Amino acid sequence: VPTDLEGPMSQRPLIDHHAHGITLGELDRAGFEAYATESNSPPPVGTTAFDTPFGVAVRAWCAPLLDLPAHVDADAYLERRRALGGAEVGRRLLGATGITRILYETGISGPDFAVPSQLARLAKAEVDEVVRIEPLAEELLREGVPTAGFMDRYAEVLHARAGRAVSLKSIAAYRAGLDVVGPGPSDAVEVDRAMERWRREADRTGQVRLTEPVLLNELVWRGVSTGLPIQFHVGLGDDDVALGRCDPLHLTGFIRAVQERGTGIALLHCYPFHRQAAYLAHVFPTVHFDVGLTLNHVGAGADRVLREAMELAPFHKQLFSTDAYGLAELYHLGAWLFRRAFDRLAGDLIGAGDWSAPDADHVADLIAGRNARRLYGLEGVA
Ligand SMILES: [Zn+2]
Repeated sequence: VPTDLEGPMSQRPLIDHHAHGITLGELDRAGFEAYATESNSPPPVGTTAFDTPFGVAVRAWCAPLLDLPAHVDADAYLERRRALGGAEVGRRLLGATGITRILYETGISGPDFAVPSQLARLAKAEVDEVVRIEPLAEELLREGVPTAGFMDRYAEVLHARAGRAVSLKSIAAYRAGLDVVGPGPSDAVEVDRAMERWRREADRTGQVRLTEPVLLNELVWRGVSTGLPIQFHVGLGDDDVALGRCDPLHLTGFIRAVQERGTGIALLHCYPFHRQAAYLAHVFPTVHFDVGLTLNHVGAGADRVLREAMELAPFHKQLFSTDAYGLAELYHLGAWLFRRAFDRLAGDLIGAGDWSAPDADHVADLIAGRNARRLYGLEGVA
């Protein structure tokens, strides 16, 4: 737990309700920079991903944990990183986050990635699984499961995986947009037609990538039938995301339709739609949200974004996450920037007489972990 912060969030154990694996392999400069940005392309020749809010934050706040002075230059940072090795870097950066439980989304991976048990050891944290729903269907298509009965087979596989997981996750936003997720399951005839289109496309291109709106909606609704909460990618992501169709207000019909079943919903990242997410969390009892990933990439701007996220949303609806992927630095800064932003906000509110110190402790407790425990039905005190 970081020792240079003081406030209601500074020493508190955190549940990271959405994150991924990190690579333990050796990273050259291009390799590190590829993980340091949401862009899928290298920066223009002569520029660097270190000239970003996240890049400068790495040099400022991660360097001391690798025994380097703050603000050390990028090459020296990466050289020290290589000398220590990926596992030791992971142990140092994750070990200092105070994250005690990670909800690990296994839908994406990369070279030399830590498996969940390795990640648990490095972070000294418990790890639970979150299952991404779209790859399970893509796997079945690859296996040649026929259109007749495809969705029933999918439901079997999904329910088996769901039995060992704490949540599902949808990336409909990446494949089409959140507007494809509607107030009910897809029509069965349309599902069969879309299956055939998808199969022909896969045969033609050799890729099983699912983009059919009717099927993306159907998979979400099959997910609803598991009874698990569903996380939705919302807002910023890599350049594959349809950001113009990522406003979570597109999910309003779906949210209303599942409200009676009590399906828990977690809107992830949300930027620049975090105010829309906060509104949905305000009016719908099942909706929760985070600004994870965002805080990493806005770096020093984390204070402002967290303040905006906390304007309207009930304090019992916000969640903490890092959305770390690939780099231990994303775990470290995701936690550190969040703690600092929260404590600065709490300090201001206490100073102005808006909150008492016990109020600040109570809200910190909710967002650090209590809300996640309630939403995902997690046991334990962490
Ligand atoms: Zn993620």
